[in-house]
Amino acid sequence: MITAPTDAIVRITRTTICGTELHILKGDDPTCTPGQVIGYEGVGVIELVCPAVAAFKAGDRVLISCISACGKCAYCRKLLNLPCTSGGWILGNRIDGTQAEFVRIPYADTSLHHIPDDADEDALVMLSDILPTGFKCRVLNGKVQPGSTVAIVGAGPIGLAALLTAQFCSPADIIIIDLDGNRLEVTIRFGATAAVNSSDGQALE
Ligand SMILES: [Zn+2]
Repeated sequence: MITAPTDAIVRITRTTICGTELHILKGDDPTCTPGQVIGYEGVGVIELVCPAVAAFKAGDRVLISCISACGKCAYCRKLLNLPCTSGGWILGNRIDGTQAEFVRIPYADTSLHHIPDDADEDALVMLSDILPTGFKCRVLNGKVQPGSTVAIVGAGPIGLAALLTAQFCSPADIIIIDLDGNRLEVTIRFGATAAVNSSDGQALE
């Protein structure tokens, strides 16, 4: 349901199940309203836009940011969208999310991104949350520099996202540690220079 002139309605074509949603289903997140449609990652097509939306029109293909940004508050003006005073993580948390046929996107102009017509949606949906989270929370916060030696503990989705995006910064070595041999084999294909199985200390290179 539309609630503001800055809203857009998006028809979902791709979405995901994030680890956070599994926590919600287990009851670990008290901020999520019972009965809420969960999901905050997605790719889709604009179904309609409200009058104050200027950057998008019906029929545009879009990537949905997991974080809604009003674009006007003091945090948004510093490009710190997560603490946005009226947005932030609200999709699939305080308002219905993307695991649905249609989703209402608040602050559409500053919470959606245009995507090319020939974009691979399966790959692009990883930009809603997981790759930016791996890059910002692990690689940038970890201050990875050219020539760094990087150790990543855990080869789950965020670990893999950190592994891929750390390579933007040209570290000398990326060592990844996990208990799952299959995941560790994938990390070598994704660019890890060594993969250590913490159950037995054996390393793949
Ligand atoms: Zn804001």
